[in-house]
Amino acid sequence: MISIALDGPAGAGKSSIAKGVAKELGFIYVDTGALYRTVGLYFINRGIGTELECDIEKNLNNISVDIKFVEGVQHVFLNGEDVSDKIRTPEASMMASAVSAKPAVRAFLLGMQRKLAEDNNVLMDGRDIGTVVLPEATLKFFVTASAEQRANRRYKELIEKGEKVNYEDVYNDIVTRDYNDSHREIAPLKPAKDSIMFDTSNINLEESVEKLSAIIKERISVD
Ligand code: C5P
Repeated sequence: MISIALDGPAGAGKSSIAKGVAKELGFIYVDTGALYRTVGLYFINRGIGTELECDIEKNLNNISVDIKFVEGVQHVFLNGEDVSDKIRTPEASMMASAVSAKPAVRAFLLGMQRKLAEDNNVLMDGRDIGTVVLPEATLKFFVTASAEQRANRRYKELIEKGEKVNYEDVYNDIVTRDYNDSHREIAPLKPAKDSIMFDTSNINLEESVEKLSAIIKERISVD
């Protein structure tokens, strides 16, 4: 099986790019951030804040997270409920960042991610795919862009979805998540030694998809 790791900070365009490239290659696109968001949503539903003052492992025993592909589109389920939309709020983003710093949560989600890559040709996006989840990935990319660009894009996305947000908050969330993700002790966000840097600051989505697909096709033979 072929696995392509796409790591990078929040809002660099990983998921939109990955969707386009996966379609182009006929691979499945796995959004691992959605798994952390799903675990985060469980804690939000229980009224637990980002300080996570509770017994994490005990709570994990009550959680089942499933991933299913409906016409090629990933859906995530929390204890049987499709929460694919509910996890896309700024609150769920911050909570995902908080739970993702907990070793028990990372361990809880690791097997599922590896199994998907064992059974399918995947394009997997996250923070630690090339470093921890799939250290033997066929190809690894580190996708990035300036914090301002990333905040701009996220802001537009949220506004288009009808969320009431202001730019300052979105920017601050991005900077906070960058800091949390790259300073946590376990599986911090950093490029794998053998990853290819891919900067999207000055190219749009279409160009990014085209360019990344071309690099992949050049390096591996995809039928
Ligand atoms: O990619 P997305 O923004 O949906 O991820 C939400 C949060 O989940 C990230 O800020 C990060 O803290 C965490 N995450 C992670 N490892 C991954 C994917 C996401 O720690 N592989």
